[in-house]
Amino acid sequence: MEIVKKCEWCHKTFIGQMVTARFCSSKCCDQAYRYKRNQLTQLVYELSKAITPCEQSSVSNHHVLTNIEGAMRITGKAKPTIYANARKGIIPHYKRGNKLYFYEDELYQWIEGGRQNCYGINSEEMLKEIRQGIHHLPSSNR
Ligand SMILES: [Zn+2]
Repeated sequence: MEIVKKCEWCHKTFIGQMVTARFCSSKCCDQAYRYKRNQLTQLVYELSKAITPCEQSSVSNHHVLTNIEGAMRITGKAKPTIYANARKGIIPHYKRGNKLYFYEDELYQWIEGGRQNCYGINSEEMLKEIRQGIHHLPSSNR
């Protein structure tokens, strides 16, 4: 069965072998595909720029060594609780002799553990946000 179709890329009419045929040639199909992929790449790039400040503010970047008192202050937990968690390997810590050491940023990340941060967005959610963003972004914003 032959159907007269219009190529979606070059808009020339052609005889399609299949109902699903959308392009007159594989070259047009390829170009249309590349065009769409470039558009998508651009959108993802714009989005990645938009989420960078969020990622920076959500996690403390202070890679500072602290002791048990510092861990108590940051986590708000009692000393025995922290010792117990460290022994179980739940809380990130370093042991030297019988002293425990902690990194402040690791404690903050541990507290935030389980919470989805910016990296948790999967590509489907990203595309959904892109589509919403297109409609919601006023041009005066730039
Ligand atoms: Zn074509």
